[in-house]
Amino acid sequence: MSEVRVRFAPSPTGFVHVGSLRTALYNYLFARHQKGKIILRIEDTDQTRYVEGAVANLLQAMDWAGLTFDEGPKSGGNFGPYYQSERLEIYKQHISQLLDSGHAYPCFCSEERLTKMREEQAANNQPIMYDGHCRHIPKEEALKRMENEPHVIRMRVPSEGETVVNDLIRGRVSFQSNLLDDQVLIKTDGFPTYHFANVVDDHLMQISHVIRGEEWLPSTPKHVLLYQAFGWDPPQFAHLPLLLNADRSKLSKRQGDVAVEDYQSKGILPEALVNFVALLGWNRGDDQEFFSLEELVESFTLERVNKAGAVFDLQKLEWMNGHYIRSIDEATYLKLGLNWMAKFQLDAGSPEKNENILKAIRPAINTFGELPAKTALFFQDELQFEAEAREWVTKEESKQIFTTMLAEIDQYPQLTLDDFSAMMKIVQKSTGIKGKNLWMAVRSAITGMTHGPELPIVLSVLGKDKVKQFLQQALEQ
Ligand code: GLU
Repeated sequence: MSEVRVRFAPSPTGFVHVGSLRTALYNYLFARHQKGKIILRIEDTDQTRYVEGAVANLLQAMDWAGLTFDEGPKSGGNFGPYYQSERLEIYKQHISQLLDSGHAYPCFCSEERLTKMREEQAANNQPIMYDGHCRHIPKEEALKRMENEPHVIRMRVPSEGETVVNDLIRGRVSFQSNLLDDQVLIKTDGFPTYHFANVVDDHLMQISHVIRGEEWLPSTPKHVLLYQAFGWDPPQFAHLPLLLNADRSKLSKRQGDVAVEDYQSKGILPEALVNFVALLGWNRGDDQEFFSLEELVESFTLERVNKAGAVFDLQKLEWMNGHYIRSIDEATYLKLGLNWMAKFQLDAGSPEKNENILKAIRPAINTFGELPAKTALFFQDELQFEAEAREWVTKEESKQIFTTMLAEIDQYPQLTLDDFSAMMKIVQKSTGIKGKNLWMAVRSAITGMTHGPELPIVLSVLGKDKVKQFLQQALEQ
């Protein structure tokens, strides 16, 4: 078999949709698993949709996710340029082939005529598509008019028969030709449309497998007809299942974050997002959920990609991220955590204290975006009590504990951890309260919560004055 060559062919729009990340990832996994090549091609021929910085942003998102390309704008390669906007000459040459062979024709219809045509079709409940008005202009006349009349170039789609797509995921899908539009291949501005540039480039770049989202399936028969018109062998197609919201509607911006950048800024780790996205439409056939990129490469096959839409479950992503936060080595965790603390302007006064805070909350956070909430107890001036903690601090017995602590605490200039345990022994002896009743009361008074970070860590960060202040406050409840 000839070499596997796949491509990720985004039209940069300024942000990277998680669906795009999945397409890129599956192409990457397929290529690496098959020991083939993955190409990055920038589909930027829609001048009206140009967004400043969009390509840089895209490249950055790919880097962040750890996806590398064998050919593309950054790495170069033998099949460039990899920006479609730099390939206009190539499209020009190819469109003349189709004009010569009669598979394409110029269309001079004005926007007004087309609008009117569409309105009439809509009123008559007919499919909205080009009515073939310019199809039969004699070739010579057409060529002459092309010289000075604005025009587009359309594909002459056969009006009968069917076009079959044998999709590696969806199986055999057939489309009736009479429902396929005489699609525009070259626009009035001389730029190619997506369909035309995409097919020409996939052929010239020797793409063996086109792996892309299901929303492109309806376009595929048009592509197949173009391959036929050129006399080329089409690549194999694999259309990936749609991504859905929890209510099974198509994943949309309206229902939550859809951009890779959104997850980045929520403090999701790239390993977690990649792992999560890999499972949106694929599984290994067992119940393993955690995969490194290497393991994914090893296990990935198109045979195990589902047809059914995949629900994007944000809670699962956060849960997975929590797993990654707890499984990276401590030094990496602390380094990342300190960066995030700085971003949120959370500073307990020394790197050591900040690290202690990070260690203390590690069992409890799922994303770094939760840092402000999860570290609040270390930074507040007045404690906020959770309901259960309030119950504990208002017990008569607890008040006795706090009073004794306050009477003792100034014996210890620093209140080190050793001091603290010595002090608590005294408190236990003089009040006769011990075990849960003692510790829940103290924990509630110092943290406002009955569960949470280890007390010694909290104490070491808060320091003696804060502890005194919180005990006072607890007494006043
Ligand atoms: N440029 C298209 C996109 O933005 C590519 C679709 C395809 O892979 O053919 O998704």
